[in-house]
Amino acid sequence: MTARVLVVDDLLPNVKLLEARLTAEYFDVLTATNGPDAIAICDQGLCDIVLTDVMMPGMDGFEVTRRIKSNPMTAHIPVVMVTALDQPSDRVKGLEAGADDFLTKPVNEISLIARVRSLVRLKSVTDELRSRAATSRDAGMGDPLVQAVADTGAGGRILLVDDRPGSSERLMSTLSQHHVVTLATDPQQALFAASDDTPDLVIVSLDLASYDGLRLCSQLRSVESTRHIGVLMLAEAEDNARILRGLDLGVNDYLVRPIDRNELLARVRTQVRRKRYADRLRETVHATIELAIVDALTGLHNRRYLDSHFGALVEDALNRGRPLSALVLDVDKFKAVNDTHGHDAGDEVLKEFALRVRKSLRGPDLVARFGGEELVVVMPDTPIETAQLAAERIRSRIEQDPFSIHKGADLIPVTVSIGVAAVTRLDETPETLLKRADQALYQAKAEGRNRVILGRAA
Ligand code: GH3
Ligand code: MG
Ligand code: MG
Repeated sequence: MTARVLVVDDLLPNVKLLEARLTAEYFDVLTATNGPDAIAICDQGLCDIVLTDVMMPGMDGFEVTRRIKSNPMTAHIPVVMVTALDQPSDRVKGLEAGADDFLTKPVNEISLIARVRSLVRLKSVTDELRSRAATSRDAGMGDPLVQAVADTGAGGRILLVDDRPGSSERLMSTLSQHHVVTLATDPQQALFAASDDTPDLVIVSLDLASYDGLRLCSQLRSVESTRHIGVLMLAEAEDNARILRGLDLGVNDYLVRPIDRNELLARVRTQVRRKRYADRLRETVHATIELAIVDALTGLHNRRYLDSHFGALVEDALNRGRPLSALVLDVDKFKAVNDTHGHDAGDEVLKEFALRVRKSLRGPDLVARFGGEELVVVMPDTPIETAQLAAERIRSRIEQDPFSIHKGADLIPVTVSIGVAAVTRLDETPETLLKRADQALYQAKAEGRNRVILGRAA
């Protein structure tokens, strides 16, 4: 994975050293020898990650970090402080400024590359979400970035996996001051809890008595329901190799025992914020996708969605040798509803029509508004006889109870005609299928409406 790394240090030899190591690993390296230049590079969107020195004349590394992290346009860029200071209080100060991690000078090459890789990978996930969420800002859905910068990271939901009584008690009491913490002493129980409650963060002790903590980290990453949860490892100082392995598995962060309370709180806060930010992005992307694929009047899928999924469903049925049926439904004499009762009443009928159709079908069936008063239903794994029964059920539920219009003031009878077709040919496509269903629908109209007709196989 290549990425653009910005190295900031007032001493040129330090810059050159990091530059050489990163270039050897095929990263693109940019450099700056002071804070303002570094911030300008970030503002222009030129880098994916920043490694900054702490002690620099003028603007120090804390201030550089603070500025990058408080600007919604740059807050998502990971910042690693490269420092000769290794007191917990310095680290906490850095974390509070918003730093994502630290490297201690002289920089160990393996941890440098592991850290950069892991942060770049995490960022690439949010970058993709960010670009997909970008259009939603125009749709007036609020900017997740602005909300992220305002988030204090308090009140996180945390699952602690630690089976050492003394250690877990201390961690619980520290974390409980700011977060809602649950303790799991058994990895299996932890996996269930993570998957059921989807906490913001799972803290995993690597030295569990009878289980490999790394395995748990890896399981959390590979299961769909827990994939997005943050993971923080608690390691021993001599665990270096396992820490690197964990970062490689996608673990977000780690702490080395003995654990400094403030550093723990600062790192947890960062992870909670990161998780909430990613959640918001995902929600925004989801809402944007919704807007693009859902018909506003009926809440059914729109034509565009149908067009982009129908082909794959037909292909899948052919590949697996499974049946698939399609219905085309058209409200009878709908123009007369509009003409007699007004367009708004027509809209009310369409909404109720869509609702009754949806309620008559199963989960896997795809229901889309094809146009005006015409719906298409695609029924995977459904032979034509079953589709016919479903169509008949819909027809009768439409006819059975009159539709309410004018907000309940009037009731009018509505009926529907339905054409049914099923995959029969090896070269079947949505077009061939819809054509036969359409011909059947046409026949239903011609024969007097309010009926279900099966399309003849070509
Ligand atoms: P048939 O039984 O042959 O299907 O007759 P019909 O009147 O239903 O068919 P036609 O296709 O002639 O008329 C469909 C009408 O649906 C015409 C159009 O104005 C109306 N329509 C299409 N979309 C909407 C909508 O979103 N809201 C309302 N109220 N009417 C719509
Ligand atoms: Mg009609
Ligand atoms: Mg029509």
